[in-house]
Amino acid sequence: MNPLDNDIKFVSGVGEVRAKLLGREIGVKSVRDMLYHFPFRYIDRTKIYSIGELNDTNTSGYIQLRVRVVGKNFFGEGRRRRFTLYVTDQTGKAELVWFQGIKWVENRFELGREYIVFGKPNFFRGELSMIHPEVESVEKALSRKEKSGLQGIYSTTEKLSTALGTKGLYTIICNLWGSVQGKIVDYMPQYLRQQYGLISLEEALYNIHFPQSAPKLKQAQYRLKFDELFGIQLNIQTLRSARTSVRAGFLFPKIGEAFNTFYTDCLPFPLTEAQKRVIREIRSDTVSGYQMNRLLQGDVGSGKTVVALASMLIAVDNGYQACMMAPTEILARQHFATIVKMLGKTSVRVGVLTGTTKTKERRQTLAALEAGEIDILVGTHALLEERVRFSNLGFVVIDEQHRFGVEQRSRLWTKNNNPPHILVMTATPIPRTLAMTVYGDLDVSVIDELPPGRRPIKTLHYYEQARLRLFGFIREQIEAGRQIYIVYPLIKESEKADYANLEEGFAAIVRDFPLPKYRVVACHGKMKADDKEESMRQFKCGEADILVATSVIEVGVDVPNATVMVIESAERFGLAQLHQLRGRVGRGANQSYCILMSDEKLSKESKTRLEAMCETTDGFRLAELDLKLRGAGDINGTLQSGTAIDFKIANPALDNQILQVAQQAAIAVLTIDPTLTTEQHRSLRELKERYSTDDNRDFSMIS
Ligand code: ADP
Ligand code: MG
Repeated sequence: MNPLDNDIKFVSGVGEVRAKLLGREIGVKSVRDMLYHFPFRYIDRTKIYSIGELNDTNTSGYIQLRVRVVGKNFFGEGRRRRFTLYVTDQTGKAELVWFQGIKWVENRFELGREYIVFGKPNFFRGELSMIHPEVESVEKALSRKEKSGLQGIYSTTEKLSTALGTKGLYTIICNLWGSVQGKIVDYMPQYLRQQYGLISLEEALYNIHFPQSAPKLKQAQYRLKFDELFGIQLNIQTLRSARTSVRAGFLFPKIGEAFNTFYTDCLPFPLTEAQKRVIREIRSDTVSGYQMNRLLQGDVGSGKTVVALASMLIAVDNGYQACMMAPTEILARQHFATIVKMLGKTSVRVGVLTGTTKTKERRQTLAALEAGEIDILVGTHALLEERVRFSNLGFVVIDEQHRFGVEQRSRLWTKNNNPPHILVMTATPIPRTLAMTVYGDLDVSVIDELPPGRRPIKTLHYYEQARLRLFGFIREQIEAGRQIYIVYPLIKESEKADYANLEEGFAAIVRDFPLPKYRVVACHGKMKADDKEESMRQFKCGEADILVATSVIEVGVDVPNATVMVIESAERFGLAQLHQLRGRVGRGANQSYCILMSDEKLSKESKTRLEAMCETTDGFRLAELDLKLRGAGDINGTLQSGTAIDFKIANPALDNQILQVAQQAAIAVLTIDPTLTTEQHRSLRELKERYSTDDNRDFSMIS
């Protein structure tokens, strides 16, 4: 038996209880799982900085200090409460700040004692501070026996680090290494390792956990990233040749009544050239005989919905059903309303199905769908359920792709014998190779033109102290008949505090904007679906002036009369999200504004982000900057949330070069050995398998 397949509970220092916890918290069940739980960063244990040598320009990333605690204090009230630790070394002084777990932190530190502090330095007016640093007593830090100068830091969870201690995962990996050393079999054929300059798998795994030197760590990272991207490419390229070698795509040769009536009688505006071009591209896919798999990228507000609708109508004209899947209830309902309104003059039958559809209505809709009495079905994830059966589904639209996984997508096409054409829409611009890696085998279309007559949105950055000015401005806008969004961040890790912020903010708004003159509503995840919908309805039809919400409105809400988007704690949002939120205004004829509220203390990166938002409204430029600003973990989080591939180390956005090499390698291998059956390639199946998704299974069924 391969020692990597051993249950993690047999590793010394683990045992039944901790094994259960490891499985539940981070999905680690076997020795292999643990070995592939890589550090997300490393501390250079050999390097300790002194406060005096650090300044705004010579530091980036995390650093280590050795400091003495000279004072503690609490500041602020309620959600603004924070704890500050004053520390010094021989060369200067600094502040360590905590916003969460304050009580616990306070009790951990003794005045006069020395600690090793690890964190990201911030500078405010020349003063050094660190927010939420990792801290360890000097005695403890020095007593530890290190396997190398660079020590890995592993992502963990609150429960795990409570049970195992902060260094617990590192210790487990130290313990298990002895049992696998010399026994790790490399699936990569020798000739490929030579050709692509890859170190052995064992050496790579050793150095990723215990880097013997910085260059060795680089080589280890390269090898493991290569493996990951290569494994994915083996799947994608197999899939691609399957798709382009069978002509299993539905044919939509006809342009008929539905499309024509819509185009000539229903469209309230002429299409932009870009919209027309994309419809032509889709049209040529749907007469090619191959199954379409297309990603449509278009900035927020570029008019993707109409393109999707026109395409679905072509399917309907050819006797097929179409469906459109949206990531949220609100958005699905809105799409449904838009489509019903636009198709008023046609005989196309439209249905809607979401998680909150009532039983009776659901039964009717499902029956009608199976009988072919519904042409276009709009909905949420609910469309993926087993009981949703089409009579002949020919075209699928998925809005805002990043919320859905490849796996989920494939569940739609198992609803047919043949896979329907698939159009995936996203407002996040991504290069083609990257899109392929993250989303699978896709062709890409772009709407690179906004509808005419849009006025660029003015974006302003206000600090907390300008709140009165903000409220004055909101009053002016409401008096002029406009509507306002106020958005609060909501992040899983700090959900409780975030809801408290929102509730407090909502109460303050209601106080400052009293009835009957002002009508304020809220919309967030803790409310009942009916109440949420009622708030949205009131805001949409102008019965409410201000909508206070979490980022649920990020995607897709369309209220042309709303001209102000206020984003609270804007420093906590990523650029992509800020841009999406801003896209909610500027949809009508009036000048619109986006106001970014933030705390005064900002990290360098947050400042850069907010400045970029004020400077440009170009989504592509912001996306580029976003890639540059973010660390690997971050971008992976955003791009991958909802995608089926679980990248452990590669960052498809930043490792573009490795991606290209891996792609070439995969194509080369598959060209000489498409089914990986020869002696030298057989072991690669293990790798391919690891990165396979449901897509492949579906395609192999077809071919
Ligand atoms: P997104 O690409 O963000 O999904 P939407 O499809 O919601 O954008 O379109 C944004 C707004 O622009 C909608 O109100 C829509 O009716 C309008 N719109 C779309 N295409 C055009 C066009 N060619 N001319 C004018 N307005 C348009
Ligand atoms: Mg949209």
